[in-house]
Amino acid sequence: MEQQTVPHLLLIPFPALGHISPMIKLAELLYQAGFHITFLNTPHNYDRHLRFTDLQSRFTSSPRFRFQTISDGLPPDHPRSVQLIRDIFFSTQLVTKPLLRDLLLSFPQDLPVTGIIADGIMTFAIDVAQDLGIPIFIFRTCSACAFWAYRCIPKLIEAGDLPFEDHDDMDRPINSVPGMETLLRRRDLPSICRMKDLENPVFQFFVNETLNTARASGLILNTFDDLEGPILSHIGSHFPQLYSIGPIHTLLKTRQGDTPPSVASNGGLWEEGGNCLAWLESKPFKSVLYVSFGSIVSVTRDELLELWYGLVNSGKPFLWVIRKDLIARKEGEEGEIPAELEGGTKERGCVVGWAPQEEVLAHPAVGGFLTHSGWNSTLESIIAGVPMICWPQLSDQPINSRFVSEVWRNGIDMKDRCDRVTVEKMVRDLMVDQREELEKAADKMADLARKCVREGGSSYCNFERLLEDIRSTMSFPQLS
Ligand code: UDP
Repeated sequence: MEQQTVPHLLLIPFPALGHISPMIKLAELLYQAGFHITFLNTPHNYDRHLRFTDLQSRFTSSPRFRFQTISDGLPPDHPRSVQLIRDIFFSTQLVTKPLLRDLLLSFPQDLPVTGIIADGIMTFAIDVAQDLGIPIFIFRTCSACAFWAYRCIPKLIEAGDLPFEDHDDMDRPINSVPGMETLLRRRDLPSICRMKDLENPVFQFFVNETLNTARASGLILNTFDDLEGPILSHIGSHFPQLYSIGPIHTLLKTRQGDTPPSVASNGGLWEEGGNCLAWLESKPFKSVLYVSFGSIVSVTRDELLELWYGLVNSGKPFLWVIRKDLIARKEGEEGEIPAELEGGTKERGCVVGWAPQEEVLAHPAVGGFLTHSGWNSTLESIIAGVPMICWPQLSDQPINSRFVSEVWRNGIDMKDRCDRVTVEKMVRDLMVDQREELEKAADKMADLARKCVREGGSSYCNFERLLEDIRSTMSFPQLS
């Protein structure tokens, strides 16, 4: 009887763009390294992939790369909005978990799944994998600093740093996260820490998901040693099989060489709107501020107007992504935009529904990025050497922005403020007054990021080690 030797990995992203996008790039890297890949999408996201990418041709041209769907456990008409994203945390644990087991048992005997890579907030997959004897690695898509802060939450509680109320003295220092003793204030912690009730299911969910990671064969992070080395050392003392392989989108480009990318670079959940690259062509070198708050954050109409006034009043050209679902309107709220804003935007602005962000950031006309500090956006800005104004809202964003402003110094932090005067001042600081020093730091970091993904660089070598370790842990069942 011959032993089955096809290494076949199942990749399970959390069903949101900021998670799917780096996971699909990891899938592509593993595919190039010779693995058979099955990439799981929810039907909801698979439909969007079909509409906005060349997924169908990808599927037919690459027999070793398949997409398959699994339910996220929510009804088709659920909005899956940021306000209701918590529903997915619990529905996947309840509904997707048993479906995953059935799916794993349904693969043909000549191509069973021999290894799994699951998102770090889908750790129910560890139970299923271990039950079926399949090795599993966890890919947590946030920054190392955020992961470490989540991991230290039990310490924060023990030290009396948690809980606190949202409005209680938010500048109070937090000293109980090893490696960040003099850095953090309450307002810099991941957003779940702004909860009075530590029994809150979402709070508990993040604590447990982070602790569960230790049960996997390894932890993959989308970061690099020159960016987060000291924090990675702390994490490594709890998770010895740690692989920092970021920025993954650049590692992929580097290893791909001349091979054309087969998966849309933006993850393909939105249609790119407007011809903003042509608009950028007409603008002087590093003159434009790019403004985007990622794929799920929403803003109130008041915040939108304050941001807008600040941008227009700064006098700088701006390219702003206003997604269809960016504005969380209150019932009965008017949608009109004041005439002076429309005028200022026509003169200096370009507004689109979605942009090819990596290309925008790499464009010579872009000199700054007003971002919500999502981790993918932060890495994309770092590799492009574009300094940032950070306006964090949720999850890991508040700690990412603290590291940008105080550790890497390639940006400034507008956390918890959103009035037109502050926005205008921040834009001027970024684009004029502090431009030189911020650009210097951003260039230095971009250089380090590019080096780490080249042959011999830390992320390159860590990825090689990951490949070896995945291969050596894989179980190859006997064919009967
Ligand atoms: N993105 C894009 N076009 C846009 C806005 C965002 O391609 O107009 C991409 C961006 O490049 C990034 C992702 O969407 O890869 C957003 O991920 P991030 O982690 O920054 O934020 P999230 O959406 O998870 O809040």
